[in-house]
Amino acid sequence: MSFNSLGLSDALLKAISKKGYTTPSPIQQKAIPPILEGKDVLASAQTGTGKTAGFTLPILQILSVGQHLSRRPIRALILTPTRELAAQILANIKEYSEFLDLRSTVIFGGVNQNPQVTQLRQGIDILVATPGRLIDLQNQGLISLAKVEILVLDEADRMLDMGFLRDIERILKVLPSKRQNLLFSATFSKDIKKLAMGILHNPVHVEATPENTTVDAIIQKVYPVAKEKKTELIIKLITEGNWKQILVFTRTKQGANKLTESMISAGIKAAAIHGNKGQGARTKALAGFKDGSLTALVATDIAARGLDIPLLPHVVNFELPNIPEDYVHRIGRTGRAGASGEAISLFSPDETVFLHDIEKLVGLKLPIENIKGFEPDPNASKEPIKQGQGRQQRNSTPKKPKTDTTNRSSNNSFGPRRPSQNNDRRSNR
Ligand code: AMP
Repeated sequence: MSFNSLGLSDALLKAISKKGYTTPSPIQQKAIPPILEGKDVLASAQTGTGKTAGFTLPILQILSVGQHLSRRPIRALILTPTRELAAQILANIKEYSEFLDLRSTVIFGGVNQNPQVTQLRQGIDILVATPGRLIDLQNQGLISLAKVEILVLDEADRMLDMGFLRDIERILKVLPSKRQNLLFSATFSKDIKKLAMGILHNPVHVEATPENTTVDAIIQKVYPVAKEKKTELIIKLITEGNWKQILVFTRTKQGANKLTESMISAGIKAAAIHGNKGQGARTKALAGFKDGSLTALVATDIAARGLDIPLLPHVVNFELPNIPEDYVHRIGRTGRAGASGEAISLFSPDETVFLHDIEKLVGLKLPIENIKGFEPDPNASKEPIKQGQGRQQRNSTPKKPKTDTTNRSSNNSFGPRRPSQNNDRRSNR
C-alpha cells in the first residue's frame, strides 16, 4: 500500500515524501481511512510504530478540506501526558503541514504562559497540550474549546489513569459533545478500555499486530549485579564500550540525580531529566542528548513515554521499573523506525519480583548474562524494595502471557516483528 492510495491530499503527500516515508506503517494503513471517514477510533499501537502520523495526517487532511473560517477557532485538540511528547507531536505536525494553510501550537506548564497566550490569540487550528496548562488557561478565560471537532488522547491509557483522569473529565465538559474522538495507546487495560468506551461513539478498533521479529529490533539482556555495584558497572559499560548515546532509567528522581553526579565525576557527559527539573533544564538536557553533546541522559519514567530519539543505540534500566508496562515503554526508546538497539537491565536480587512481572507481561524469559566481578551475593535478600515515584502498587497479577523463545522485543513495526504481545495491563496502579 502507498500513501497515495490512502486518499491524502497532494500537499500532505509532498510533506510525507520530504520526510522520506515511502510506505505507510501498519497502524497508519489501518487508522487513516476510518479517521478520514470521521469515525471515532480506538487504536492500539506499540510505541515507535508511526502512530503520530497515523492520527496527525488524517486530521490535517480533514481540517484543510473543511477550512473556511477566517477567525481560526481551535478545531483539533491533542492531549498528551508529558511536555516533551507534546513538543514532539507539534514538531511532527509542523513538518506534515508545511504545504497547508493550517496553524498549530503547543502549550504546557513549567514555562511562562504569555508567549503561549499570544500565539493562541492569533488563531490556532490545532492545539497540542498537556492537561494542566490547558485547564489553567481555560480557567483564566484565555482559551476557548467550544469549536473543537476532533479530540485526540495520545498515550490514552496514561491519560485515563488516576493521575490524569480528573483533568480529562474537566476538559471533556468544555468540549462540544458532538466531535470525533481518537484514542491511541500501546496498551489498554480492561478498566481503561471501559473508561475509553464512555468517551468514544461506535469506535472502530484498530490494532497494529506485531509480526515476527528477526533482524531489526531490540536485543534485551539482563545483567545480575550487586546493588551497590550498579554505578560502577554502568560506568564501566559506557567507558569500556565507548558508548556515545545512552538513555538510563532510574526509579526515582533522587536516584537519577545521584547517578548523574557519579557519571559526571567519572568523566561522562551526563544530565538528569525528571519531574523536579525546570522545563528549561529538561528541554536543554533532551536537546543536548539528541545533538550528541551529552553521552548519557538519566531519566525517570517521564522520558519513557513517546519520545522519539532517532537511532538511539542503548537503553539501560539502572533499576527495573516496579510497573512492568513501563519496561515496554522504556526499551521502546531504542529500536525505533526500523533501527536496531540494545536494552540492558541491571538487576539486583531485591528486584526479583519486578523481573518476574516484566517477563510475564512481555511473554519472554529475558536472557541473563553474568559479568565477572559484579555478580550479586547468592545469599542476598530477594525482598522487594520500596515502591518508587508515588504510584500505587499493582494489586492484580497480569494474565499469564504466551511464551516466546525469541529474546527480542516487538515494538517496531517498520521491520519484521514477533507475533503477539500481551497487552493486558494491570487494572490498578
Ligand atoms: P511514532 O511512533 O509516531 O513516535 O514514530 C516513530 C518514528 O517513525 C518517527 O521517527 C517517525 O518519523 C517515523 N515514521 C512514522 N511514519 C513512518 C513511515 N511511514 N515510514 C518511515 N518512518 C516513519
